[in-house]
Amino acid sequence: MPVGAARAILRGLDAVRVWQEDFYRDLHAHPELPHQERRTAGLVAARLRDAGCEVHEGVGDTGVVGIVRNGAGPSVLLRADMDALPVREETGLSYASTRTIDDGTPVMHACGHDVHVTCLLGSVTLLAQSSEQWSGTLVAVFQPAEETADGARAMVESGLVDLVGQVDVAMAQHVLPFAAGRVGTRPGPTLSAADSMRITLHGRGAHGSMPQAAVDPVVLAASVVVRLQTVVAREVAPGDTAVLTVGSIQAGTKSNVIPDHAVLLLNVRTYDEHTRSTVLAAIERIVRGECEASGSPKEPEFALFDRYPLTDNDTDVTGRVADVFAEFFGDRAGELPQQSASEDFSDIPHALGTPYTYWGIGGIDADTFRAAEKAGRVAQDIPVNHSASFAPVIQPTLDTGTQALAVAAMAWLARSSTG
Ligand SMILES: [Zn+2]
Ligand SMILES: [Zn+2]
Repeated sequence: MPVGAARAILRGLDAVRVWQEDFYRDLHAHPELPHQERRTAGLVAARLRDAGCEVHEGVGDTGVVGIVRNGAGPSVLLRADMDALPVREETGLSYASTRTIDDGTPVMHACGHDVHVTCLLGSVTLLAQSSEQWSGTLVAVFQPAEETADGARAMVESGLVDLVGQVDVAMAQHVLPFAAGRVGTRPGPTLSAADSMRITLHGRGAHGSMPQAAVDPVVLAASVVVRLQTVVAREVAPGDTAVLTVGSIQAGTKSNVIPDHAVLLLNVRTYDEHTRSTVLAAIERIVRGECEASGSPKEPEFALFDRYPLTDNDTDVTGRVADVFAEFFGDRAGELPQQSASEDFSDIPHALGTPYTYWGIGGIDADTFRAAEKAGRVAQDIPVNHSASFAPVIQPTLDTGTQALAVAAMAWLARSSTG
């Protein structure tokens, strides 16, 4: 049975935990922005070498791949992302990041990718040292630049597919704001597709006292923002889900100058291609219509960026993982609600033509979470990913993430489960 073999492998967890917790604190205190993960990549490569892996560095510039070849059998790919965010940490932890880069931008592991890296290194170490329990190939992918949506693609473009060859299943996990010690799986669309858009609206500048000489882009932008609120409310079917947020609106410099343009930054989240194209088309139609209504002297400009693919978990793969999780974790395994966040992980299995699943692990102290739940204050009291206060508890978060990866991998790799 795969879970029995996984339990045998996880007997080594006590020894792994000894370095894992310090490793995690060190990563947390030294976060790196997307595409700059050089220190992190170096530490990862060194650990992989210690574990006896074949190590490939510089895949997608700062990405690292570790491979354990252990005879005939399935090939399992596990992925962790390594990058941090431009956030000033306010957790008050003894190992909090105080790091800023040269231009003063603060950096923090506010999304918990340091948890992912540490857990995957732990699992790889455990599997590598217990090779008698399994056979096949284990591929550990340490991906840069998830937060800019282009790290997975960068690894693919730099030859990941040729490097890892045929892969039977790809898996990844994320630490999320629910009780630590718990794991959650979900078949089907699990993380949204995301699109960011920069819209430039053109007006005609003039003196603030002479609006008759102007086409005011501030008023135009305000109308656009209000009218965009009707897209989800009036154009998306009630059973479908979408989010449209205007995250930034910028125009002008001075109270008595009507500026000549305004720039909006939008973010869109959807769970299927039809809704995605409906929302994007509606945005463009509304913006063009409002520009026309204002007498805008120039066509608006649209630029899409930070586009994330849909994470649509394979039903069979997810079922197999959910089964071993239920057996291993008991009532600590459950269902993951659909998430409005996004991930570029699926770019890797897409490129490999491999089915995949992506699950969540809790990172919040279980008592704290239960108290917030009881008070109906989870949304107010529990800091979420990307918040300056997001602080996963080290345990049982690291143990759970390490166990989850090992148990899931063994659902394919355990000797008794081949054939
Ligand atoms: Zn994030
Ligand atoms: Zn993340």
